[in-house]
Amino acid sequence: MKEIKCTIIQDVLPLYIDEVVSQDTKEMVDEHLQYCDKCQKEYESMKRDLYIPVENTDSLFNNISKKWRKKKVVISIVSTLVTAIILLVAFLCIFYYKTVIPYSEDLIKIERQNNNQLVSRYYGESYAGVNGTHPIPLEIDGEKKNVSFIYYTKTFADSPSRNLINDEKSLNEQEYIFQLPESEKVDAVYYVDFDVKKISAEKDSWESIIERAVLIWEK
Ligand SMILES: [Zn+2]
Repeated sequence: MKEIKCTIIQDVLPLYIDEVVSQDTKEMVDEHLQYCDKCQKEYESMKRDLYIPVENTDSLFNNISKKWRKKKVVISIVSTLVTAIILLVAFLCIFYYKTVIPYSEDLIKIERQNNNQLVSRYYGESYAGVNGTHPIPLEIDGEKKNVSFIYYTKTFADSPSRNLINDEKSLNEQEYIFQLPESEKVDAVYYVDFDVKKISAEKDSWESIIERAVLIWEK
């Protein structure tokens, strides 16, 4: 009886190891293995030979592929972020990074309007911004003069929002005219880029700025 049972047990052991037996069979095998050393040994060896290596390679493979998948996910997230940042920086550079437009007679002209208002006309295709100062009293060649400084900036491309505004305004001429503040007092207009923050921090001064400026209009 015991012999028969052992052969039956050993017959179902592969299924038992694979955990595809019914609960009754499982209990029967469990019980048998507790007291039958022979079947226990058979079970151990079968498990080692059949089951464990399969489980090992399986889990190893799974672990590797899981780790690799995780890595791949991390890599793709990181590369997506990096791409997004690069695009954003490029976008900001192209549309918002301003460079000073060098002065050219054909591009920028200062003229006195009939109402005595001094205006700067821009003849280029487009620009990002114009910066002008109120008249600043400065001594030039021993002469006191009220000087206005002005410069235009551009971006590599017009920002989409700017284009939108321009389209709506259909690029009317008014956009290209800059009225110099307190222009009735102005004796001379100089073209140069300046940083008001530097001047208020006393890292720069109008006296040194005027030395690299271009005189573009005089009373
Ligand atoms: Zn047995």
